[in-house]
Amino acid sequence: MSQTLQAVRGMNDILPDDAETWEYFEDIVRDWLQSYGYRPIRMPIVEPTPLFKRAIGEVTDIVEKEMYSFEDALNGEHLTLRPEGTASCVRAAIQHNLVASGGPQRLYYYGPMFRHERPQKGRYRQFHQIGVEALGFAGAETDAELILMCARLWEDLGLEDVALEINSLGAPEERARHRAALIAYLEQYQDKLDEDGKRRLYTNPLRILDTKNPDLQPIVEAAPRLADYLGEESKAHFEAVQIFLKDAGIPFRINHRLVRGLDYYNRTVFEWVTTRLGAQGTICAGGRYDGLVEQLGGKPQPAAGFAIGIERLLLLWKDCGGEAERPVVDAYVVHMGDAAARLAFRAAEALRAHGFAAILHCGGGSFKSQMKKADASGAPVALVIGEDEAAAGEVGLKPMRGPGAQQRVALDALPEAMAQLLYGGDDEEGAE
Ligand code: ATP
Ligand code: MG
Repeated sequence: MSQTLQAVRGMNDILPDDAETWEYFEDIVRDWLQSYGYRPIRMPIVEPTPLFKRAIGEVTDIVEKEMYSFEDALNGEHLTLRPEGTASCVRAAIQHNLVASGGPQRLYYYGPMFRHERPQKGRYRQFHQIGVEALGFAGAETDAELILMCARLWEDLGLEDVALEINSLGAPEERARHRAALIAYLEQYQDKLDEDGKRRLYTNPLRILDTKNPDLQPIVEAAPRLADYLGEESKAHFEAVQIFLKDAGIPFRINHRLVRGLDYYNRTVFEWVTTRLGAQGTICAGGRYDGLVEQLGGKPQPAAGFAIGIERLLLLWKDCGGEAERPVVDAYVVHMGDAAARLAFRAAEALRAHGFAAILHCGGGSFKSQMKKADASGAPVALVIGEDEAAAGEVGLKPMRGPGAQQRVALDALPEAMAQLLYGGDDEEGAE
């Protein structure tokens, strides 16, 4: 026997029980985004590699070691499975002139992202994000509204133990002055830095502040703070964001070492973190990225956004007792004999034509075993068609949950009888 094939490590199958949860969740998410006026956009999963190098930054974990990049065997193009969505979304907006011709845009997308990381709980090589991007908006109210949106979703889902951390990365010139001070400070501890730290000292020292290495904590704790290098405008913007958050009653903590792993951010950055998922505690991260549109070749546009990690969010939701409503069909159709099989086939279609969901039993078996399947399906009604019914051109309706006796109706009258049983009204209403 040949060896069975397995999925790629870190890339998960989402089986029906879970996939139903995902779809239930996706419905909630769509309503939530719509209630803030966001519109969907769908970008390709594969993009030119230079897009991510330019947008995310050459000296970042993602670009240095996490991207699935390859050469197109047919034309030699350098391509990458997207590791995140902001770069693609901005590329698409520029390419199609969305902001220039349509004004500021509130956009969202939803889909798989790919990063070559060590798989563990809450960290996978194919994972999913909801990305939300507000393009063309400069004001602090946009930063604050993005954060409030998240808070509302957590509330809708009944999440607990989620905390907000915010920081300001200021403007590029301010970061440059802070960077010089930071390098001068870190140079004193050069021999104490770990490998990543040494490598980043002159390329991306800000990221050293973000280190998870416990040995480096005392050093980074005492490092020069970006907050002390912010100019008046950056300070005022950050203040304004905080006022909106306070007005909305959203508690937050300013984390001076929150710098984010992508280079494109400026001013406000934020993360929503939970203590319930171990090391993979960040369920959502985002911020302002005013320079990115221009960096990718577009006319300068302010912008801000965030991304939610779906797998982590669903883990947390489950942990907080969240449960999806499972979809059930309206009827399960059981039948016995050749003539009954033909009538059953028509009956099931007649129901679907009137907006009811029906499973047609396939594969034979006794009435008893078929009724067991009908019961297991969760359907509120079983259609029962034996030789008698088939001969009369009629269908038996048996309520599976609650009271009510089995009745027989002609095929023509089936949708109406079904509506009566399920909703006590006519099928037009029921099918809504
Ligand atoms: P981390 O520090 O956990 O690696 P990150 O800063 O690399 O996260 P972002 O690029 O900001 O993550 O992505 C936004 C969100 O996407 C994260 O907060 C997380 O919820 C989720 N996420 C990122 N990488 C993964 C992954 N490999 N597997 C599952 N979810 C992920
Ligand atoms: Mg990461």
